Amino acid sequence: MNQASDEKALVVLSGGQDSTTCLYWALRRFGAGNVEAVTFDYGQRHRVELDCARKIAALAGVRQTVLPIDTFAAIGGNALTDAGIAPEEGVRDDDALPNTFVPGRNLVFLTFAAAFAYTRGARHLVTGVAQTDYSGYPDCRENTLKALEVALRLGMDSRVELHTPLMYLSKAETVTLAQQVGALEALAWSHTCYNGEVPPCGHCASCELRARGFAEAGMPDPLVERCQAEAQGH
Ligand code: ZN
Repeated sequence: MNQASDEKALVVLSGGQDSTTCLYWALRRFGAGNVEAVTFDYGQRHRVELDCARKIAALAGVRQTVLPIDTFAAIGGNALTDAGIAPEEGVRDDDALPNTFVPGRNLVFLTFAAAFAYTRGARHLVTGVAQTDYSGYPDCRENTLKALEVALRLGMDSRVELHTPLMYLSKAETVTLAQQVGALEALAWSHTCYNGEVPPCGHCASCELRARGFAEAGMPDPLVERCQAEAQGH
């Protein structure tokens, strides 16, 4: 069994609202010197995400590593890696998975993240998945994550621990958490829109959920404020 540090943590940072909040949560929980970020370049159509992740890691003062995974783009068949498929509008009200679901993405991300954490001597792995108030992605559910943690521990003979601080939070509660851990400034540089637009399009499922969360938390979205200020030439 490898001797990974009990203090060190690796955060999977996509550049979105949830992973940015998790990065600041981890800084509070494990201490600034113990946190690193990993970002996956999986052939996402919206390359702006990668710029956002870089900017946020720099703002947070953490070391960030970008790892390439090009197989999801080769598989295609979803709106995030396939230019021929447009993201669905709005949040679905049935049980079907939206076409922004990338099958296996979190399983692969977390497996590579665990491999990277192993080499970096980090025992804690932090991811922003949530099973409430979301699009029902099955690889964001706690059962999936618990099963994966068992598989990673067995397969790597390690004591890796998966942390999912947002698992049971609503989007509004995630906004409140972001405020508590000091992530609001960084959220001004986060990217959530499925259409890859800055300022955010406001009508895709991801924009709708984000806007609803800030509205319910009674706070303005720092990203929207930044875009408005820039449009006014400030
Ligand atoms: Zn959008």
